[in-house]
Amino acid sequence: MENPLLQKFDTPFESVPFSQIKNEHYLPAFQIAIENAKQEIDAICQNSETPNFENTILALETSGEQLSRVSSIFFNMNSAETNDEIQKIAQEVSPMLSEFSNDVRLNPVLFQRVKAVYDQKDKLNLNAEQLRLLDKSYKNFSRNGANLSEEKKEKLRAIDKELAGLSVQFGQNALAETNAYSKNITNKSDLRGLPDYVIAEAKSQAEKRNQQGWTFTLQIPSYLPFMTYAENRDLRKELYMAYSKKAFQDNEYNNEKNVMRIAELRLERANLLGYNTHADFVLEERMAKTPETVKDFLDDLLKKSKSFGLKDVQLLQDYAQSIDGISQLERWDHAYYAEKVKQEKFSLSEDELKPYFQLDKVVGGAFQVAEKLFGIQFKLRNDIDKYHEDVNVYEVLDEKGNHLALFYTDFFPREGKRSGAWMTDFRGQSNINGKMQRPHISIVCNFTKPTADTPSLLTFSEVTTLFHEFGHALHGMLANSTYESLSGTNVLYDFVELPSQFMENFCYEPEVLEIFAQHYKTGETIPQELIQKVRNASNYMEGYQTVRQLSFGLLDMAWHGENPLKINSVETYENQAFEPTNVYPSVIGTNMSVSFSHIFNGGYSSGYYSYKWSEVLDADAFSYFKENGIFNPEVAKKFKTLLEKGGSVDPMDLYVEFRGQKPSNDALMKRAGFVD
Ligand SMILES: [Zn+2]
Repeated sequence: MENPLLQKFDTPFESVPFSQIKNEHYLPAFQIAIENAKQEIDAICQNSETPNFENTILALETSGEQLSRVSSIFFNMNSAETNDEIQKIAQEVSPMLSEFSNDVRLNPVLFQRVKAVYDQKDKLNLNAEQLRLLDKSYKNFSRNGANLSEEKKEKLRAIDKELAGLSVQFGQNALAETNAYSKNITNKSDLRGLPDYVIAEAKSQAEKRNQQGWTFTLQIPSYLPFMTYAENRDLRKELYMAYSKKAFQDNEYNNEKNVMRIAELRLERANLLGYNTHADFVLEERMAKTPETVKDFLDDLLKKSKSFGLKDVQLLQDYAQSIDGISQLERWDHAYYAEKVKQEKFSLSEDELKPYFQLDKVVGGAFQVAEKLFGIQFKLRNDIDKYHEDVNVYEVLDEKGNHLALFYTDFFPREGKRSGAWMTDFRGQSNINGKMQRPHISIVCNFTKPTADTPSLLTFSEVTTLFHEFGHALHGMLANSTYESLSGTNVLYDFVELPSQFMENFCYEPEVLEIFAQHYKTGETIPQELIQKVRNASNYMEGYQTVRQLSFGLLDMAWHGENPLKINSVETYENQAFEPTNVYPSVIGTNMSVSFSHIFNGGYSSGYYSYKWSEVLDADAFSYFKENGIFNPEVAKKFKTLLEKGGSVDPMDLYVEFRGQKPSNDALMKRAGFVD
């Protein structure tokens, strides 16, 4: 019996033969592929030749190809077309895979070979791309402690173990506190302002608890609508306080000690590896590079946006004063009055917009934008295997008509697909020893399905989502690097959203909307004033939102870019960090750090700034197009080069090569309406 996952794919473009793959093929394919990958690693270690770029770095880069093919197919299916059996296999193979990658990362013989090459990198006559791959391979080991003495390695393991435990504890405490609170309401007048769907949900929460009336919780789907719509100010305050005291109360779920200890251990870990702070360690592998750059970046944005944040709050304050006689607006009032003013001034109904955004036409529009910018074309292929009938497969051709990529689109929700939207690939791009491998890229979304009498119509935010994922896809499809691990979207973390957010800008351009935004019944192009309304609505409360984002970024840097040993009180320390960004009075007894999961229980520590960083990049890049015409061929050609090079060049160098200068914050400030 042959396992199709382990054969060469005898299909057009070696595309995945989905129709031949059965669930029972995965596990044995993983077992064999891991075994083969191990043998490839052993062969590198046992090579009797002196270590050099080819026999060590390149050999390591190209090892495990079969395993990565099986993995990408399997995990893509687990996200887009899963079932109980696939989920069970996922649980079984995940530990196998992490064991294998740990074995590679902690292999001392392999590291000695990599280090031998790294130590003589200046004498080896390597080109820039080879040097980058060498650097990446070396850091993969050194950043995990490969250079440390046995004693220090032991110490590192102990720190990592304690950190892992603390992070779990932190998350469990925050969750326990979220679940511990509920507010039962029996007086119907306390529900005033709440939409029917919120009341219905609160009713069913009450029934679940055998309570009368309606019950609200600190879960976001219950909490957020309550804060946005509930007229009863005292109740808003009560819920706000409960929410903001999570893990900050005098009980067993308090996280103050945990965040202090996490920050201390992260510092200790960074010091052990030779870095000043945890932020220095993290940012070494980011476009921003240093904590100073990040702090200057956040400070500059704050200087430029603070007055607009205050202005936004003043607008709400005046409104609250005029209709409810409130003289001092508080934090629990923000969402409520922001929503009221929005309804009055920027009411925008999705039903008004949707008829202009027919999915097929929007997709066609995205293709045309790519064609105008980069000269590429999309040809629907019906002869290529797919994993579900809703999937479309396109062959992408370059300007000369040569094969560039395969592009899979999978737009509709179904059981077995996780929520959200994402770009992924079935194989990446590489060009080793003259053998070009073109990529197979996919985007997966959850848009409204067509019905018998209506085509699939998108909301405006779904339109921008589609362009966003398409931007990631272009990054993958245009890739033209040598090594797969430095190709396409394999770029540094604070650079990866540039192409995707850049593409979103096109959704607001009249020249682009004319291509695809026609009413599905009348054929009329979307009126310009409707688009202006969308734009105004998207800038609403931008000052407040910007300052809020910056406050989180600054808090993150305060915890990870400074020495945490000087902290005596979590409360005082946080208040100091927040002080420059306050647009509302602080509320005593509340704390954000103790439930800030992004940075204490997720992968965002020293990385929260990247949300704003990416926005600066995409606004700055698009402003270059705006100045020269959004389809200007020379500018587009330079941007295409940036996309083609992926992670093979330092992102700042790559950006400067495209733009002629470093990114400036000005374009984002202009787009936000903070400068003319
Ligand atoms: Zn994205």
